[in-house]
Amino acid sequence: MVGDSTDTGQDRLRLARNTTASECVRAAAAFVNSHAEVAVFEGDRVFVAASVKANNSVTPRAMYAAEQRLLGKGAPRHASVDGWLALPIRKKDSTLVASLTVSLGVATRDFEATIDGLGALARIIETEIVRDDAAAPDFLHHVVHGQRDPVAVLSLDMIITWMSASITSLIGRTPQEMIGRPATDFIHPDDVETTLNAVIRMSQGLYATRAHLRILGPTGAYFPVEVTGTDLSENPDVGGLVLSIRDDQRDLEDQRAIDRTEQLAKAIVSSLRDGVIATDEFGAVVTFNDTARAMFEIDRDVAPASLSPKSFMLESVEGHPHDPFSSSASTNTVCRLNSSNGEERFVTTSVRRINDSTGHGIGRVVVFSDLTAEHKAAEELRTQAMHDQLTGLANRRQLEHHLRKIETERPEIFVAACFIDLDNFKAINDVYGHDTGDKLVRIAAQRLSEELGPDDLLVRQGGDEFVALMVDPDSYEDTTLFAERCRVALAKPFYIDGHRHDVSGSIGVALAPADRVSRSDLLQQADMALYAAKDGGRNRVHYFDEELAVTVRTTEARRKRLKRSLEAGQLLMHFQPIVDANSELTLGYEALARVSTPRGVLPPSAFLENLTAKSLMWDLDQTAFGLSCLAARQLLDLAPDTPPFIACNFSSVSLNHPDFLSMLTSTVKSAGVPPEMISVELTESSAFEASNAGKRSLVELTDSGFRLVLDDFGTGYSSLSHIKDLPISTLKMDRSFVTALGTNVSERAIAEAVVRLANDLNFLIVAEGVETAEQLEQARRVGFSAIQGWYFSEAIDLERTLENWRATRAAVALPLAS
Ligand code: C2E
Ligand code: CA
Ligand code: CA
Repeated sequence: MVGDSTDTGQDRLRLARNTTASECVRAAAAFVNSHAEVAVFEGDRVFVAASVKANNSVTPRAMYAAEQRLLGKGAPRHASVDGWLALPIRKKDSTLVASLTVSLGVATRDFEATIDGLGALARIIETEIVRDDAAAPDFLHHVVHGQRDPVAVLSLDMIITWMSASITSLIGRTPQEMIGRPATDFIHPDDVETTLNAVIRMSQGLYATRAHLRILGPTGAYFPVEVTGTDLSENPDVGGLVLSIRDDQRDLEDQRAIDRTEQLAKAIVSSLRDGVIATDEFGAVVTFNDTARAMFEIDRDVAPASLSPKSFMLESVEGHPHDPFSSSASTNTVCRLNSSNGEERFVTTSVRRINDSTGHGIGRVVVFSDLTAEHKAAEELRTQAMHDQLTGLANRRQLEHHLRKIETERPEIFVAACFIDLDNFKAINDVYGHDTGDKLVRIAAQRLSEELGPDDLLVRQGGDEFVALMVDPDSYEDTTLFAERCRVALAKPFYIDGHRHDVSGSIGVALAPADRVSRSDLLQQADMALYAAKDGGRNRVHYFDEELAVTVRTTEARRKRLKRSLEAGQLLMHFQPIVDANSELTLGYEALARVSTPRGVLPPSAFLENLTAKSLMWDLDQTAFGLSCLAARQLLDLAPDTPPFIACNFSSVSLNHPDFLSMLTSTVKSAGVPPEMISVELTESSAFEASNAGKRSLVELTDSGFRLVLDDFGTGYSSLSHIKDLPISTLKMDRSFVTALGTNVSERAIAEAVVRLANDLNFLIVAEGVETAEQLEQARRVGFSAIQGWYFSEAIDLERTLENWRATRAAVALPLAS
């Protein structure tokens, strides 16, 4: 349908004048790389209103077939005939007004894309027509179309000249009822002045003015509205004040509804255990909840906007600053939150971008979850795993951890390890019980920690063993002084539950460069030094040195050899005769252990010296004793009525072994040897330092018929008066005294005193290590009752021993058993 001629004449001129239309034509021509024009239809006539060639002129021409198509039924979107493409330009009521017509060039691109592109240009021209088309009321009609709030136009003398339809739903009157009447008819009398003032302000050129007033409602009562207005009286199309009227009550209700939602959201957010902070798109803090306020210690009266996101800086567990708002901030990392009272809290943060409905970022929300309790629990577990429960000191695991750390982090420094062992602890624990033992260990731990420097570490290795790690000592002397201070600290008496306990400490020290801690076996070296300190008589500090290393290595080699020999049955016994000092006839033999190897028979110095492996000592003594008893049996068989005694050596390990006595009795029994034939040889020190159980078994073994020999007498510290406390039958004076008898006056004096006492107590007193006739003479003169030494015989194998015994029997003309 073609518009009527009055309309289209205007259209024609308007399109010819219109710069937008000519711009669109130019764009269309460029788009198709060819010719374009706007053709205006008047009946069946066509005028070119704009073309790339001629602007601002209106030229008639014949209607193209393509344009003809647009006039056909169905209001097509486009028509193309004979290389021409026509796109319709219609009024709002669909009346075809004009066409954007282009000639399709040879290089026409994708046809659909061309239609879309040109269609958009045609729409733009169409919009231009619609705008120019609108008369005042219509214009307003279009502008306010679909708008919720009613719009009114007032003349400057306050007469209503136009009113949009939506006014009816607000005040119950139609626009027709209101147009032509003064606006004051509908305004509360008290608000008229306000309204007039607003109108004056508007007419003075304020672009938009807002006023709150009451207007007459459908029930006859006034109700509040908000009026926003602008002065368009200069505009010939409008010619008045345009007012938009909004129901304040509905506004309030809307606001109330929004408030309710907001309040609810706020209540939820504020009751969260997590801290919540929101920022706007520029990073300014918009809001935070009470938990966040408490977490970051923000004062009650501080407004969110006055806070910088920097107020919420955290610290990573490693100590780096952590900005929870940063887009690169990884979420769920545990961070430290330092409070002013020094309390340490731990939080994890998670950041979320907030987007509006179009996906545009409008801010961020950061949630801080307090993990202090969880973190503390985890820390506690870690602490437990790294600490000794009794003393709270570091444990062995932490020691290793610490050493590894020092090795990698401070390779340039030195580290000293002190192994500390309480000397008398076991006895106190046995006698006073574990409770006292525990208290003692705790006091010792306390005293040792007081000697520690800030970098040092004290570790309880277990039992009564401690390790003090001295990190970066100033000098070698520094470590000596430190170890000495520890020793002195432990040498002071311990008072527990009203009892005084004297416990000293043996300390082994080793020093190594931190980068070689693991390779140099620092801890093992300190341990070796500790053994040396104990061997050296306890309550002392021993430094690890190369000599000690050699000792330890050879000891280790010996231990291995003995172990192998015992397993391979290579242990054998030799016997050294002990003769009567006057008759020079054999009274008995000392059984001495040997190991037979393909290269010969080895003495104890090759496999026994410094042996500390307790189980091995026990094995050796048992095996040696078993072999000795078998030999004793053979000697017994030679002369059942007057057998020789067999002296058997036992270490203190065996004496303190719970099975010592039962082992002795069962072995003699199975060999068929009377206990009376066996002398149990113990050194002075092992006999006097025996545990209570050990001392009891000394009494029991003599009660069972065994004889007790105190070996190496004079080398220990026991006083003579103690001798009578033990059920001793024989004293063996150490070889060192015997050697000194001829030369050293004081040694001889001691020997004489001992011999006199032994004779008074009716002990057999043996001089050990008599090698020469002079020594024999001296020993006789001093009063020894028996002699053992190379002067008479070395230790000999079993065969020669049996021979020796036969000869002895023959010498006293006693018959041998057949
Ligand atoms: P011991 O119990 O003091 O034994 C005496 C040591 O003095 C023996 O050394 C013996 O051969 C040596 N001897 C004897 N007369 C002389 C002498 O005139 N001059 C010198 N210079 N030495 C003499 P041996 O056999 O080498 O034994 C050494 C140590 O080994 C023993 O010292 C004893 O403590 C230990 N031993 C030997 N057998 C056993 C055993 O079966 N069990 C235990 N626990 N220790 C044993
Ligand atoms: Ca001996
Ligand atoms: Ca001896």
